[in-house]
Amino acid sequence: MHMAIFAVHMGFSLKASWNYKCPRCRQGDIFTKPLVLSKPLDMPKRCSFCNQLTEPEIGFYYGAMMVSYGISSWTFLAIVLVLVFYFDWTVNSAMFVVIALALVTYLWLLRYSRSLWLHLMVKHSPEEEQKQLLKRDEEPSVTKEEWKPRIKKAE
Ligand SMILES: [Zn+2]
Repeated sequence: MHMAIFAVHMGFSLKASWNYKCPRCRQGDIFTKPLVLSKPLDMPKRCSFCNQLTEPEIGFYYGAMMVSYGISSWTFLAIVLVLVFYFDWTVNSAMFVVIALALVTYLWLLRYSRSLWLHLMVKHSPEEEQKQLLKRDEEPSVTKEEWKPRIKKAE
């Protein structure tokens, strides 16, 4: 809870973290595109827009591992408990569902926990976002449809 308040205070954007955007300028992608399934965690060294490092220090993403482990273990435990005690499932069938769910969400969780971690640790810079948006507007390769000015929320 404290973490969440802290994150909101820094200008945390669920949308930008969800879309794997750079936390600083919210324009660049933090994962190499297109996604290669054998290398799902490939990241460019820096944001192609604002130059923000995607791995600010060695071992930075150990924290992300803990986040994803925490989220998944508590979620899966809660699902098992609900299935068993509320819906009267057997423990075995509940475990089967949870393992299937873990497999299906594995890749997403791996990537999202990294994105979330980076977003929690790196501050958003409204000035940088504005600068990158203007640059993007001048870029002839970007069509007007692709370029959308973002309405900034009051913080
Ligand atoms: Zn950036």
